[in-house]
Amino acid sequence: MEYEAVIGLEVHAQLKTQSKTFCDCSTVFALEPNINVCPVCIGLPGVLPVLNRKVVVYACMLAMSVKGSISGRSVFARKNYFYPDLPKGYQISQYELPINKSGTIGVQVNGAAKDVRLNRIHIEEDAGKLMHNPDGTSFVDFNRSGIPLLEIVSEPDMSSPDEAVAYLKKLRTLLLYLGISDGNMEEGSLRCDANVSVRPRGETQLGVKTELKNMNSFRFIHKALDYEIKRQTDVLEEGGVIVQETRLWDEAAGTTKSMRSKEEAHDYRYFPEPDLLTLEVDDVILKEAQAGVPELPDAKAKRFIGEYGLPVYDADVLTASKDLADYFEAAVKLLGKPKAVSNWIMSEMLRFIKDIDTGIKSFKVTHDQTARLLKLIEDGTISGKIAKGVYEQMVATGKEPDVLVKELGLEQISDESAIKEVIMSVIAKNPKEVEQYRSGKEKVFGFFVGQVMKATVGKANPGMVNELLKKTLKEEK
Ligand code: ADP
Ligand code: ZN
Ligand code: MG
Repeated sequence: MEYEAVIGLEVHAQLKTQSKTFCDCSTVFALEPNINVCPVCIGLPGVLPVLNRKVVVYACMLAMSVKGSISGRSVFARKNYFYPDLPKGYQISQYELPINKSGTIGVQVNGAAKDVRLNRIHIEEDAGKLMHNPDGTSFVDFNRSGIPLLEIVSEPDMSSPDEAVAYLKKLRTLLLYLGISDGNMEEGSLRCDANVSVRPRGETQLGVKTELKNMNSFRFIHKALDYEIKRQTDVLEEGGVIVQETRLWDEAAGTTKSMRSKEEAHDYRYFPEPDLLTLEVDDVILKEAQAGVPELPDAKAKRFIGEYGLPVYDADVLTASKDLADYFEAAVKLLGKPKAVSNWIMSEMLRFIKDIDTGIKSFKVTHDQTARLLKLIEDGTISGKIAKGVYEQMVATGKEPDVLVKELGLEQISDESAIKEVIMSVIAKNPKEVEQYRSGKEKVFGFFVGQVMKATVGKANPGMVNELLKKTLKEEK
């Protein structure tokens, strides 16, 4: 029997506010434990939470970006459980009435477009962090306790690991465009739990799901889902049943392992948070949120296609990061030639950039230096091939392209008599090949081009070399 996978993701995104969700402690990352803390976020008795307005604005910005429906009234709720990193014994979250209840995120997977529906987006606070020592003792750091999170829950609309990763990447891109989260999976500012089940292809009822945790990169998520889909399919094919449970991805072993079953699952005893008023989102907040939403990746890609005549592929690559899209547009403003700029960015620049989201701002070569380098190709000062070498030097040193071209003596040779001189000497040195060419073996032509380029260390104007070689080889007959 053929099985298909069903995947739904629960994502936590840490918000980049200056202060925490319910107190004025700083959210800045600190190495020293327990310095960004106060009676509210370490849960001392008798304190009262005060909601950070910015958290609401940020939540609305994301809701608007996914065309969600923002609830005019939403309610905070206590999610009760005991754990040493949760000093109050409950986390303030939202339950029955979240701030946003719908929306979609559109993704492209292997050329096919797909809309993933959202189930909800709600506001909650982060817990602290435990640090376990080799000697068996543990410490708890409350710097993170109370930092705002958005939980974004999708419908079970994805049917492959590729789709799940594409969705998560798109969500992360949105968060970064909005500037409301770092979206850093390795550092935990973006965390993803993946729910997955399988069912016979064509079946409409959902199968029993497992929830996967402990995957802190796109790659791990892909691997964990791949593994789990295979595991569940094998169980079913052998006539077994899937147990609803939470499983941890074990990267070293390359497997998922059972952590707790449904019976051991928490009963969180949710109830409305009595210390906070119903959250009312008014026009002032909505206006502020709307003003914070920039042109989003899909709209930008569409504009790049229309305005610059770029292929869909280029537009998608360039708009995957707002910084990269800005870089592209700034260079085009100086040079024109959108396709040439796009080609250069995609095939040269991106080779040097590991992380497209953090790497553009700190990249040594500025957009105007790139434009000036491309101008040197365009006006024939250097060849495209030489330009690649110059570019490597620019990346390494941050020097200006024209300075490097002068320093390294790389100006293209476009002087006809100089090129002709080289051609004559190449012809003189290779009588055998000349003979072959003249007897009709046209393929040898490439050999001559190669020799001339070699003799000029790649600096001869390739168009002129071709033209002059043809002429000369014929003439000398
Ligand atoms: P729970 O009650 O376990 O919290 P929810 O219904 O709240 O489950 O869904 C949690 C997440 O799991 C959502 O992202 C949802 O899309 C996904 N999900 C629910 N059922 C399934 C299923 N059968 N297979 C895969 N994913 C599922
Ligand atoms: Zn505090
Ligand atoms: Mg649930």
